[in-house]
Amino acid sequence: MGERQHSGASERTVIMWFRSDLRTADHLALGAAAQAAQQQGGKLLCLYVQNPADDRGPLQAAALSNALFELNQNLSGRLLVVAGDGPQMITRLAEKSRASEVYVSEDYTPAGGGELSDAAQSLTKVGAALLRCGDNYAVSPGSILTGAGTHYRVFTPFKKRWLAHPWQRPVRSRPEIALLAEPHRIALALGLKPSEILHPEAAPAQSPATVRVGEESARESWEQFLADRLLDYAEARDLLAEEGTSRLSGQLAHGTIHPRTLLADLADADEAPTGRDVYATELAWREFYADFLAAQPQSGWQDVNPIFPHYPWDEDPELFAAWREGRTGFPVVDAAMRQLAQTGWMHNRARMIVASFLTKDLHQPWQLGAEYFLSQLVDADFASNQHGWQWTAGTGTDASPYFRIFNPYTQSRKFDPSARYIHRWLPELRSLFPQDLFGDEGVPGSAGRQLKRIHYGLAEGGFQPSELPEGVYYPEPIVDHSEARAESLRRYRAR
Ligand SMILES: Cc1cc2nc3c(=O)[nH]c(=O)nc-3n(C[C@H](O)[C@H](O)[C@H](O)COP(=O)(O)OP(=O)(O)OC[C@H]3O[C@@H](n4cnc5c(N)ncnc54)[C@H](O)[C@@H]3O)c2cc1C
Repeated sequence: MGERQHSGASERTVIMWFRSDLRTADHLALGAAAQAAQQQGGKLLCLYVQNPADDRGPLQAAALSNALFELNQNLSGRLLVVAGDGPQMITRLAEKSRASEVYVSEDYTPAGGGELSDAAQSLTKVGAALLRCGDNYAVSPGSILTGAGTHYRVFTPFKKRWLAHPWQRPVRSRPEIALLAEPHRIALALGLKPSEILHPEAAPAQSPATVRVGEESARESWEQFLADRLLDYAEARDLLAEEGTSRLSGQLAHGTIHPRTLLADLADADEAPTGRDVYATELAWREFYADFLAAQPQSGWQDVNPIFPHYPWDEDPELFAAWREGRTGFPVVDAAMRQLAQTGWMHNRARMIVASFLTKDLHQPWQLGAEYFLSQLVDADFASNQHGWQWTAGTGTDASPYFRIFNPYTQSRKFDPSARYIHRWLPELRSLFPQDLFGDEGVPGSAGRQLKRIHYGLAEGGFQPSELPEGVYYPEPIVDHSEARAESLRRYRAR
């Protein structure tokens, strides 16, 4: 055991290590940590360790800052946020504060689980224990098994069991302020350098386009959704331009609200039985993917469908860049990629459309798209993202069959009939009517031809709608959808 240094922190300390569970309500680990501190007659040190090496885009960083800001407020300003490597910092602080117990929520992702194992090992060396308590799921991954004792590989039977599986009622877990260690006093006592102490008390600037993440905003969004949108959720959830979904994915990914809380409220929503059932099914997808990933960690980057590794993907940096930057010449694809870049969120239907386009029209490997999504999404969730990509690419669990290739024009017509979504994210196309943007049966209609005519009349590489400044062009389609589709099918069959 490493020798303990005198910290100046004379009281017994129990540590609550927050990670992707940035809330005070319905939090099993926090409740257990508070109880332990009380029983030991000590203080509870609430801690978040931010690793400067973590690669976060600006929108992701803003979401995290806001979530920490709201968590700190709900802990009456008693959250200590420090910069460093999680396991090392936790061990150092446990040793200096003479804490023998560190509470944390379980993490089932390969990287997160690895971090917890590292922390558990190094804490043991300083005489402290890592106590994993609760997680961010209504039914913990690994709890639902087939008759043969294996995990489910297909969603529908999993969902049936998941719906019937008991889940705990939400718990009261917000600790009394008197129990909480004062962070700045303890930071000094523990010998932290000023550069290691971060300040969650400063409210981060919010962009109006960004989805706000935090415990208060989660509760507000959820209540608003229950009151205004649950009733029509089943129909509205697929419409690209509607605010038809709950927008809670960023909250669930940061653990600012627990799915137990959502399910408990849904159970009382008798006036919207269809919306309630469909919403619970969506939560079940999230839990199914987490369960699958926990059982098969390699499925994060490897095809689940074993006949697939031989599929001949292309790797074309230019095509990939056009997709990433929203300049494919397919309006719905480009609109969606701009929504992602500008807000850190993308509609589920749009995620399927752009993922299908990247893999089945541009023939690029799904891993490239998945990696880009993880770097941009405010709701980046390793299990849902990797399996959402695999599903669309046709390599995953319950995979969309290889011959299902989304037609961007048909998808627009069905799910963005007035082109409001396209117009919102591609202002350069606002002068074009829906029928100009997507023709019948997936063939570009009059506008498709019209765009070409304008293009040929004006400049190389694109057409110029009249409202655009000189020199700004919307590109021509980078591929012919029918040809790209036929090529995909040819490759699948030749596999
Ligand atoms: C290619 C691709 C990548 C994706 N990447 C992510 C990701 O990184 N993080 C993420 O949370 N979701 C991901 N999804 C799933 C889904 O798109 C988002 O959860 C959803 O768009 C979030 O918006 P919402 O909260 O308004 O959803 P709502 O319709 O309000 O759904 C409620 C909740 O159910 C869960 N959910 C809904 N649909 C799905 C689904 N298909 N799979 C898993 N969970 C679901 C989410 O937690 C969501 O917040 C991905 C889907 C695809 C096709």
